[in-house]
Amino acid sequence: MTGVIIITGGSRGIGAAISRSAAAKGYLVCVNYHSGDSEAEALIAEINESGGRAISCKADVSDHVEVERLFATTESKLGPVTMLVNNAGITGKICRFDEVDPQVMSQVIAINTMGALYCSQAAVKRMSTKRGGKGGVIVTVSSIAARLGSPGEYIWYASSKAAVDAMTIGLAKEVGGEGMRVNAVSPGIIDTEIHALGGDPGRVDRIAPMIPFGRAGTAQEIANAVIWLGSEEASYCNGSILDCSGGR
Ligand code: NAD
Repeated sequence: MTGVIIITGGSRGIGAAISRSAAAKGYLVCVNYHSGDSEAEALIAEINESGGRAISCKADVSDHVEVERLFATTESKLGPVTMLVNNAGITGKICRFDEVDPQVMSQVIAINTMGALYCSQAAVKRMSTKRGGKGGVIVTVSSIAARLGSPGEYIWYASSKAAVDAMTIGLAKEVGGEGMRVNAVSPGIIDTEIHALGGDPGRVDRIAPMIPFGRAGTAQEIANAVIWLGSEEASYCNGSILDCSGGR
């Protein structure tokens, strides 16, 4: 057994690839999700039928009370959490900055930034040796948007991801001496539903020619990086923000 892992937004896209890979590596997996009960149930069944062990927990990461319930449920069903993957995220509809509805900006920050902060705080409270824990690992799925800025698309989303990069660097320094490692992965364009949800289904094909590899990445390629950063093979990585963008 590798440990107990929580993957937020773990029932589809990049999160589902992380959930499958973690189970295959021997983690006991808690798949968090916010909507799509049948999608989450199907993934849990797939993992459990193929010899892994997974549970699901529906919870909104932008609500710190629900985040506490997510951790308590995972602990009671699987045992102490040893790895957290902050993956849940949304973009809002693509538009110019001066046209975006302030409520959309609030929602994106609430889920992408506050969700990662709440979940990371819940993890530190349990994992830090200073708090009586046995250590653990946090990996956050950020975005290269944090440094590109995403003009004309979603500057608020880029801002939400820059904030989690700062959290990663600060937390790595604050709890690095307390048995924890804190890192992030920054995907470029990955072929998932997030682009259609952002109102731009043709985004992957449009951007692919601008990427040195000439193609979008796959959810599995991001999952591979997340699982590696969480593993003992990355034992000296702390505060890293690892680009997985095909060189973009
Ligand atoms: P996706 O839309 O397929 O998955 C997003 C997941 O987040 C879904 O499972 C969704 O249910 C979950 N989620 C949304 N709101 C939630 C909430 N309030 N509480 C709990 N879960 C919630 O998109 P994806 O591409 O798989 O995105 C996963 C992560 O990767 C996101 O953080 C995204 O910003 C990041 N990312 C994606 C790309 C890309 O090109 N696909 C690029 C860079 C970064």
